[in-house]
Amino acid sequence: GLLFKELVPDAEVYSFYIDLRTVGKNYEDFLRRAQEEAGIQFIRGKVSKIYEEDGVVKILAVDTLLNRRIEVEVDMAVLALPMVPADGIEELASKMRIQIDNNGFLQELHPKLHPVESATPGIFLAGAAQSPKDIQDTVAQASAAASKALEILSQDKISHTPIVATVNRDLCSGCRLCLSACPYGAIEMVDGRAEINEIICEGCGACVSTCPSRAISLRNFTYEQLDAMIEAVAGGI
Ligand code: SF4
Ligand code: SF4
Repeated sequence: GLLFKELVPDAEVYSFYIDLRTVGKNYEDFLRRAQEEAGIQFIRGKVSKIYEEDGVVKILAVDTLLNRRIEVEVDMAVLALPMVPADGIEELASKMRIQIDNNGFLQELHPKLHPVESATPGIFLAGAAQSPKDIQDTVAQASAAASKALEILSQDKISHTPIVATVNRDLCSGCRLCLSACPYGAIEMVDGRAEINEIICEGCGACVSTCPSRAISLRNFTYEQLDAMIEAVAGGI
């Protein structure tokens, strides 16, 4: 509305809303500017119909503050559509081994503690790919993501978890079940047996519980070690 008023100062602009929330710094000023300086008319009420009559676009609505029915003739009706994830985001997420949330946006590792990290180390999120957001939040998140990336790039050496999965080739039957279980794409088949890339493996253990042949174990958490731990705990009860 504000942009349109800048281009067409004489235009009459109506903004129909159900609920107005100006969360965020200076948003209240932004609303005042739209209302008082630009003269945009904010009408609290639901638009029930947009239709064309004799070549004129008409909007039928109810002003719920004044409790009256209103009808305005306009040159153009603009709908406020919901923001949706970009086309191809699923393909991107699958290539980068990033999770997708219930609404189809990229999933951060933790909404409060790790808001710019993805589940894949070294891949950071920023902007509307992660969730709908305005320019202020996008810039703040992009700065945080860049700082996180610099943190890695400024190191001479990168440490990695020592707890990674290993395959006992003698036990592996080559069923390939572990390949689809690994969320990081760390497993490949070599000569008919599974092989794990220790640099990519994050030690999540998903493949261990998937393998029907008990061919995979986590370093320092082998089946024998786990059995011994359980026995030690259970034996003391
Ligand atoms: S432990 Fe997790 S990350 Fe590592 S290979 Fe198994 S499933 Fe993949
Ligand atoms: S699930 Fe187990 S048996 Fe099947 S390919 Fe993977 S390591 Fe081998």
